[in-house]
Amino acid sequence: MIGLHLSERVLQEAAEPTAQLPAAEAAHLHGCRLCQGRVATYQQLTTAVANLPPPAFAFDLAAAVLAQLPRPKPAFPWVLVLAAAPVLGVVATFLVLFGGVLAQAFQGLFTLLGAGLVAVASLLVAGQGLELLVQHRRQLRLLTFS
Ligand SMILES: [Zn+2]
Repeated sequence: MIGLHLSERVLQEAAEPTAQLPAAEAAHLHGCRLCQGRVATYQQLTTAVANLPPPAFAFDLAAAVLAQLPRPKPAFPWVLVLAAAPVLGVVATFLVLFGGVLAQAFQGLFTLLGAGLVAVASLLVAGQGLELLVQHRRQLRLLTFS
């Protein structure tokens, strides 16, 4: 209670259908016409707000929000991993069985193969880096809401 009458918070609580006020506040409310009138006003206000129609927009709010959300990432390609595992197993088995023979056959070509491998790996890393940069710019463009 504030002063002689119930506080606004208590009046709002009393306006709820399931309100259970402490004994002193309930006794005051029972005997005070001013507080009863305020509670009735809060009840009318609550009923009026509950009966308002839901807000309607001139545009499709859900579509506008969904358009701003980032697209979900594609799932990890487990099928490719399952397909690549047996292939790698065959290659590893082949190298274990015939590695010595291959090393003798390609003795002079190892430096050339290594240089080619480094060149291909560099191209792959550069391509991945460019793809990441393009993706990052696209995501930053999606974040601007104008
Ligand atoms: Zn009162």
